[in-house]
Amino acid sequence: MELLHFFLHLLPSLVPKQEKVCRGPGYFNCPHCGRRQPGELYETVTRRYLGGHGIPLSHGEASGPEVYRCLVCPKEVTAYGHYGYDFGPHARRQTWKCFHCKGEVPYERFDCPHCGYRFQVGGR
Ligand SMILES: [Zn+2]
Ligand SMILES: [Zn+2]
Repeated sequence: MELLHFFLHLLPSLVPKQEKVCRGPGYFNCPHCGRRQPGELYETVTRRYLGGHGIPLSHGEASGPEVYRCLVCPKEVTAYGHYGYDFGPHARRQTWKCFHCKGEVPYERFDCPHCGYRFQVGGR
């Protein structure tokens, strides 16, 4: 019984732990607010710990999608490829120029609101 107890105590420290690590503050285009907001970038990493002492053996390998937390709504969004979150230190929303009509298009949109031109992402 005592031995089993010991193993149960040891077990969580041998299993890699998934953690959410804050990668710092910045700004991003929040899909819930529909505008650029201050937020924090989180990354899911896998860490291995030494014994039960909480000493991490590695810095952690990224093992999940990035998560942005909006400091205004405040909601968390998981980063998927088809939205321009544009996480970064710049507070101003960026735009891109439509290749077709040269109009300004909000960064998070892949289609032009002026002429309907659609920018293909991800090589599909
Ligand atoms: Zn928001
Ligand atoms: Zn256009």
